[in-house]
Amino acid sequence: MKNTTGIHHITAIVGHPQENADFYTKSLGLRLIKKTVNFDDPHTYHLYFGDQQANPGTIITFFPWVEAEQGKIGGGQVGVTSFAVPANSLSYWEKRLAEKGVPLTRTVRFSEQVLQFSDPHGLKLELVERSYDNSHSWSESDVDPAYAISGFAGATLYSTNPEATVETLTETMGLKKLGEEDRVLRLKTNGDLASIIDIPLDPVMAGEMGVGTVHHIAWRADDDADHLKWHEHVSANAYQVTDIKDRNYFKALYFREYGNILFEIATDTPGFTVDESLEALGESLKLPEPLEKDRENLERILPPIVQD
Ligand code: ZN
Repeated sequence: MKNTTGIHHITAIVGHPQENADFYTKSLGLRLIKKTVNFDDPHTYHLYFGDQQANPGTIITFFPWVEAEQGKIGGGQVGVTSFAVPANSLSYWEKRLAEKGVPLTRTVRFSEQVLQFSDPHGLKLELVERSYDNSHSWSESDVDPAYAISGFAGATLYSTNPEATVETLTETMGLKKLGEEDRVLRLKTNGDLASIIDIPLDPVMAGEMGVGTVHHIAWRADDDADHLKWHEHVSANAYQVTDIKDRNYFKALYFREYGNILFEIATDTPGFTVDESLEALGESLKLPEPLEKDRENLERILPPIVQD
């Protein structure tokens, strides 16, 4: 039996990279921790945002596709991405985001205070009051550190086959059932941060990939040795799993679970300081070695991202 400690990262498709970077750094107070390209499509960016130290469990990443069509949020996707903020901080966030013109909805789920909104490209997000350590929040953000995001609270998965998705999460990924409310099942991983997964128990109509939708959710593995065990474990559970891919900052494998959501398993090691210092994270365009020869061309094609 294997179990993951939680979400490693969540990757979504959005529109213009400048609007993307501005929202996640200036509105939400996350740090741009890596500016690289999509290794499978190097003419487009892959941007990573997280806490000061780029810790797994805090990392939301984006493929900004400037000319892509708007997608449709639905079954086979992460429907909502949730960030954790300290207790009694939602009034601060309500005021902050309202001042920036973000439409907001306040609600309560499983007795927790929740603030729901969308990013500029339609991606569904929420802030959940849940007390985790947030001392690693980005020090250069103007968000009051007392209220800063700790990392992911978790996510709500929209499944075309919830029963099958729940089975994958409990039998293959090692999550435990916590409870049910209003036809939503709550599950938890073995860790604390980025550990709570909610699943509506009624199937959700299939979504369409495009701007404003999540591409995949990645779960944590410790290191390369643990990742090999995960590869074996997932294959043994009859999923078509990809080969192990080197993503420079982590090793990755992918499989689509039977509710149609793309799952990745990613290692905590070697991490985001493998090609730049902690202080300089996100400042310059980083390329995997085989793409260095195209740097000049890529820097001309990719729209500049201004961080001020
Ligand atoms: Zn990924």
